Amino acid sequence: MSWTPSREDFDHYFVPNYAPQPELLVRGEGSRVWDQNDREYVDFAGGIAVNALGHRHPVLMEALKTQAEHIWHLSNVYANEPEIRLARSLVEHTFADKVFLCSSGLEANEAAFKLARRHAYLKHGEAKHKIIAFKQSFHGRSLFTVTVGGQEKYTEGFRPAPQGIVHAEFNDLESVRALMDDTTCAVVVEPMQGEGGVRPADADFLKGLRTLCDQYEALLVFDEVQSGVGRTGELYAYMHYGVKPDILTSAKALGGGFPVGAMLATDEVAPSLGVGTHGSTYGGNPLASAVSYAALEFIRQPEVLAGVKERHEWFVSGLKRISDNHGGLFKEVRGMGLLIGAEMADPWHGRAKDLLQAAMAEGVMTLVAGPNILRLAPSLIIPPSDVEEGLARLERAVKRLAN
Ligand SMILES: *Cc1c(COP(=O)(O)O)cnc(C)c1O
Repeated sequence: MSWTPSREDFDHYFVPNYAPQPELLVRGEGSRVWDQNDREYVDFAGGIAVNALGHRHPVLMEALKTQAEHIWHLSNVYANEPEIRLARSLVEHTFADKVFLCSSGLEANEAAFKLARRHAYLKHGEAKHKIIAFKQSFHGRSLFTVTVGGQEKYTEGFRPAPQGIVHAEFNDLESVRALMDDTTCAVVVEPMQGEGGVRPADADFLKGLRTLCDQYEALLVFDEVQSGVGRTGELYAYMHYGVKPDILTSAKALGGGFPVGAMLATDEVAPSLGVGTHGSTYGGNPLASAVSYAALEFIRQPEVLAGVKERHEWFVSGLKRISDNHGGLFKEVRGMGLLIGAEMADPWHGRAKDLLQAAMAEGVMTLVAGPNILRLAPSLIIPPSDVEEGLARLERAVKRLAN
């Protein structure tokens, strides 16, 4: 008996923590996606900054198929070749000396926060455990990572929460200085806030955090789960700023659509996660590592990164033109590379989700970052014709909404 699942079946079988769009998408190719009725969409959402090479990129297909013919899983009782290739590439092309692999962004952050705590514990004792993070930041949905994230709506009803975590104002160094003391083990920051509103950090702010961390022997942790792996036009966003962290977390684009996460650390701090102190069954999974290595090697090519910066200009000018054509729809268009936020102007306040739905009806997939910001995170190699077509559809959605 053949049976085709419907969108209604989703609500029937799932815990109701998601409210997905009405369309069920079944196939993708590059930056185009098709639904069950064979309707076609331009993909400006990129699976939330994950599908960095679009859908079914031949290089990733080849890596996945080849590894599938060899071995799928071993656990951390045995090492494997793909994970070593991936780790070597991450070390060779970043500040890091050592890598921990896992399957998602929150796991990478969980490892980072635990490493920061344990490093301080081994060096200074248990009193040095305070983590300073930022309001409006996002670090994942485990209880530790939502607590560091500091958005009240994500912690409500789940307390008691982990202790020793405080929040400063993003891009406000004085607010960090006011909280910093000898009990601080780490400062955790996204070089560009993603979910919290697509806000790049100021260069002076990140430099100031580095200085403060050095002064108080605290670790600087960059969460680059969303901003990393080419998204901003550099391999990692910190490279724009010339500020090196002690620990960095990566996921999303790192797997190009295959679940993977990584925590990168220096030789100074990595030894604090000694044998048996932390782990993950799927960490370094051969399939995930093979795809991730292929994605990383492709994305780090200078012409790919240069293409991201070029595409940024296409999107920003396109969005500004749409805004101008419709009485100043957007108050501000911001972001770096291909993580772009368009903040709705006052007459449209809070209507980002309405625009997302109208855009879907016109055949273009987008994202939001909160109620007031339309967010785009397309493939890093989206063809010019798809950018143009997607923006034309987005403009039709704006017209639809205005009427
Ligand atoms: C998405 C995201 C996470 C969480 O990643 P998951 O893979 O969903 O666990 C953490 N930090 C940032 C900055 C993110 O954008």
